[in-house]
Amino acid sequence: MTETDRPRPLAVIGGGFSGFVVARQLLRALPDDRRVLLCERTHEAGRGLAYSTSNPDHLLNLRAAQMSADPDRPGDFQDWLQRSAFDSTERSGIRVTDAGTFAARGLYGRYLAEHVARTEAGAGTRLEHARNSIVDVVPERDGFALRTGTGARIPVAGIVLAMGNLAGPVAARSRHRRDPWEPKGFGQLDPARDVLVVGTGLTMMDSVAALRRHGFAGRIVAVSRRGLVPKPHAPVPAWPRPDLSAETRASLRRLLAWGRAEIAAARAVGVDWRSVIDALRPMTDALWAGLPRAEQARFLRHLRPYWDVHRHRTAPPAADAIAEEVARGTLVVLAGRIRSVIDETSHAVVTLQPRGGTGTLRIDAQTILDATGFSRLAETEDPLVRNLLARGLVRPGPFGLGLDATPDGAVVSPRGEAPLWAIGPMLRGVLWECIAVPDIRDASVPLADAIAARLADV
Ligand SMILES: Cc1cc2nc3c(=O)[nH]c(=O)nc-3n(C[C@H](O)[C@H](O)[C@H](O)COP(=O)(O)OP(=O)(O)OC[C@H]3O[C@@H](n4cnc5c(N)ncnc54)[C@H](O)[C@@H]3O)c2cc1C
Repeated sequence: MTETDRPRPLAVIGGGFSGFVVARQLLRALPDDRRVLLCERTHEAGRGLAYSTSNPDHLLNLRAAQMSADPDRPGDFQDWLQRSAFDSTERSGIRVTDAGTFAARGLYGRYLAEHVARTEAGAGTRLEHARNSIVDVVPERDGFALRTGTGARIPVAGIVLAMGNLAGPVAARSRHRRDPWEPKGFGQLDPARDVLVVGTGLTMMDSVAALRRHGFAGRIVAVSRRGLVPKPHAPVPAWPRPDLSAETRASLRRLLAWGRAEIAAARAVGVDWRSVIDALRPMTDALWAGLPRAEQARFLRHLRPYWDVHRHRTAPPAADAIAEEVARGTLVVLAGRIRSVIDETSHAVVTLQPRGGTGTLRIDAQTILDATGFSRLAETEDPLVRNLLARGLVRPGPFGLGLDATPDGAVVSPRGEAPLWAIGPMLRGVLWECIAVPDIRDASVPLADAIAARLADV
């Protein structure tokens, strides 16, 4: 068979956790002559942004028992932790708590790297890595041509978009702003001057851990609209999965009332609120998708910050570190808005309006770390996404979050049906909670099957 006779490969753009797990499932589901092309521009395949960190204080925010990368072996990561040999630094990244075992994300990255190596060995030439940035996608009769940052053209039969969270618009424009994921130089910061972190969620916690690990001993000020910090995990018994009526499912007010009553009922028998929230986990995507659009909007406006800190909890050692910083006064967490940022030579003068207050607060920040998270699709400057939008291949999902797609990951393209799919945080607007390992892992199996079925038809 010549190169031109071979079927075009199926491309996966983005080689983080989402890209890797879907590529592995595609190798299973597609016929032997169909290659899979995994395109990853920066990180080692599998690790992505989340699992490339080497800081042992950057802990997974889910228990090891939930973090298997293998849909057929739910205990795979926990077993791996038990049977693998670790050096002392790696061992310091395994924290056994009464709420479960939490491992460092870098260690999880090593676990994923072993999965990648095994998958590559098993797949042989069926799995190819393109270590390129894909900047454009051109529709063709038999699929698409990918265009790389170096100008190469790669013909493919179809594409899975797995680019993760798109970087957001900057929360505070300043030349003193730095990337929280680039900690080199944090140790040279002046301990007599404040560092400002914009955002108070999981990325703020990581930023504080990175600043301290690199030797910054000064004060950190963290600000978000409500100043809410993720709650820690705790040992919790299982709570029965709720049986919600259609009426309750259609109304945020009724859902809230149900939640309050259920938490009170749990408390009455000595069970923690976490059990109730966790019982909702298997159905949150369906609940989100079933809410009328106006109710979804109300959730985003009023409830989301509260939901996030209760639902996306943190490892107890990470929460303890933050609580100790707050108690010592080395970390100040504020609720408020940034009113202005004025750059001086050595620092930025940031004026904050505290929530509910009338006055303002001035912070002289030598560095500003943006920990606000993801952006809406149309706000991103990512060249690939901009080109996909400009070519009419994708459109923003509900509320501009991620891509418009069906709940099973087929991209809804304004140009009509196209062999284009998405997985992971790219589906945020359609599936609210498709952002964590268990959800992405489990979604990868039916997605690969659906892609194989679709390609078999052409
Ligand atoms: C800091 C952090 C910590 C987290 N911790 C946890 C946790 O403990 N447990 C959990 O379940 N979930 C966690 N998550 C959620 C996380 O979203 C998922 O677990 C998962 O890692 C998402 O993977 P992804 O592949 O979709 O995205 P990413 O990890 O962001 O990977 C996307 C990849 O695509 C590549 N890419 C993007 N555009 C292009 C392009 N045009 N061309 C080529 N390559 C491209 C990027 O280089 C990147 O490697 C965390 C997320 C973050 C950000």
